[in-house]
Amino acid sequence: MKYQETRGKVLEVAVKCLQRGLIHGTAGNVSMRVPGEDVVIITPSGIPYDTLTPEQLPAVSLHAEVVDGNLKPSSETPMHTAIYRARAHVNGVVHTHSMFATVFSILEKEIPAMMPPSSPYAPVPVAPFELPGSEELAAAAVKALGKDHLVCTLQNHGLISACPTLDRAFTAAEYIEECAQLAYWTMMAGKMNPLPQTAVAELRERALKGLAL
Ligand SMILES: [Zn+2]
Repeated sequence: MKYQETRGKVLEVAVKCLQRGLIHGTAGNVSMRVPGEDVVIITPSGIPYDTLTPEQLPAVSLHAEVVDGNLKPSSETPMHTAIYRARAHVNGVVHTHSMFATVFSILEKEIPAMMPPSSPYAPVPVAPFELPGSEELAAAAVKALGKDHLVCTLQNHGLISACPTLDRAFTAAEYIEECAQLAYWTMMAGKMNPLPQTAVAELRERALKGLAL
């Protein structure tokens, strides 16, 4: 039952990412830790999310081995499971190739907090480029997230958010894409003016208390 509920949630969020334009085609991937177990449900590799039923989603161990299901798990499974191993409070992970967050990753620039809703997640650091699907990419993402970040970008690739709940990870991916757009357009208009650092620190503390980290 727990597996079924988790599978339903992962598919719901994957389809939402598609609908909101955070991912296109079969790019990007979504996962969630099964409550109380060392098992993760993840989107499969190469199959459009809107053609799947929850039962089809693979279940993997924290070391990326398939424990249930016939479909091949996402090629980025090692990155997801490395994050779950490193961060006990993370229960949901969303990886997208959303446009403006990826622009910042290519520029090797942090995404600054531009407005209050993004403050728990920004500034967003950049993990250095590693090949997709590799253990090196997994290690780079874990290192960039460190202990405090809920989101990082992956250089020349995309964004990953890792939060206490999958809904929160989706929100983080959405807010940071919006924040990256604001930063980009204001930069183009000649003055990128982020939130004052003291305000970010205060808002971040408030928001993180609410997340019970
Ligand atoms: Zn990717």
